[in-house]
Amino acid sequence: MLAVMKEAPEPGLALKEAPEPEPGFGEVLVKINYASVCGTDSLIYNWSPWAAGRMKPPVIVGHEFAGEIVENGPGTSGMRPGTRVSAESHLFCGRCLQCRTGKPEICRQLKILGVDRDGVFAQYAAIPEKNLWVNHSDIPDQIATLQEPLGNAVDTLLAEDVTGKRILITGAGPIGLMCAALARACGAARVIVSDPNEYRLSLAEAMGADIVLNPKVTPLRGPVLTATAGDGVDVLLEVSGSKGALLDSLPLVTPGGRVSLLGIFRGEAPIALTETVIFRKLRIYGITGRGIFSTWQTLSRLLSSKRLDISKLVTHEFPLEDFRKGFELMESGRCGKVLFRTNG
Ligand SMILES: [Zn+2]
Ligand SMILES: [Zn+2]
Repeated sequence: MLAVMKEAPEPGLALKEAPEPEPGFGEVLVKINYASVCGTDSLIYNWSPWAAGRMKPPVIVGHEFAGEIVENGPGTSGMRPGTRVSAESHLFCGRCLQCRTGKPEICRQLKILGVDRDGVFAQYAAIPEKNLWVNHSDIPDQIATLQEPLGNAVDTLLAEDVTGKRILITGAGPIGLMCAALARACGAARVIVSDPNEYRLSLAEAMGADIVLNPKVTPLRGPVLTATAGDGVDVLLEVSGSKGALLDSLPLVTPGGRVSLLGIFRGEAPIALTETVIFRKLRIYGITGRGIFSTWQTLSRLLSSKRLDISKLVTHEFPLEDFRKGFELMESGRCGKVLFRTNG
C-alpha cells in the first residue's frame, strides 16, 4: 500500500510502498478514504524540536481520517466490515489516575496515532477498536475526517456555556474557524475573530464570524470595546499560540469573564496575573485533546442535524501522491483544511 512516512530524523516526508498492516490484539484494519492535515503534521514535516524529541522514525504519519472497517483482529467484538468509522487519535492506557477519573485525554501514558505509532496517511491502518467512532450516515467522509480536530474546538468553546455570550477568538487557523462556526451554532451573541492572515479572515467570515480584525492593521482594543458596548468580551478563545495575541486580548475580557487557552506557546508567556487575572476574577482553562467521547457525541449530532456546517473549511483536496502540495499550502497559510484522498 502507499503511505506517507517520516523515514529518518530530519525534515521532510516520503511517499513509500509499505506492507499492509496486520491488526494486532484489540485492533481493526481500516481502509482509509480521506485523511486531513493537522498543524501537528506540519510540525512533523518540518521536524520541529517537539517532533524531534518525541518521534522514532520510521513512522507513517497522519491521525485525522474517515474510512471503513475491512477486517477485525483478534480480541475484537466483530464490527461489520464496511462500517464507516473515524477514530480518536489519542491512545489512552485506561489504567492511570486520569483515565480512571474520566479524563483519558490527559492520560499519563498517552500515545498518538501518526506520532508514536503508524498513522493514517496511508491506504490502510490498524486502529485499536476502543478508539473507533462509527460515523453518522448523514456525515460524508470529507467532513467526518474533521471530527477529530472539531472535538478540540468543542472543548475550547464549551468549557462553559456560551449562550448569549460575546466571544473573541484569537487565531483563524482551522480550530479557530471551527470555534467561530460552533459559537454561532451554540447561541453566542457576537463572534469576533482576529488573525494577521487576510485569507483566513475571509474564511472566518464565511464560517459565521460577525467581525473579523487584522491586528496588524487595527489594534483589537477599539473595535472589540465598540462591539461590546464598552464591556469587553465575555469569552476569549486563544487558539493562535501567539504571545502578542494573548497579551493584547486578555485585558479585553470583561471582569468575571472566561478564557480558554488551546494555542501552543513557544516558551513562556508572561502575564501580569494580579492585575489581569486575579483582580478581574477571570477563569482560565487549559485545553488539550478533546473529551473522549463526549465531544464526539456533541459534534456528531450538530453535524448530522445540519445545525453546524463546516464544509467551507475544506479548501483543498489532493490524492495522497500529491501530499507535498498539501504541506506547501499549510506553510503558505492560504488554506483551511487540506484533505488527502487515500484510495483513488
Ligand atoms: Zn490533529
Ligand atoms: Zn491513562
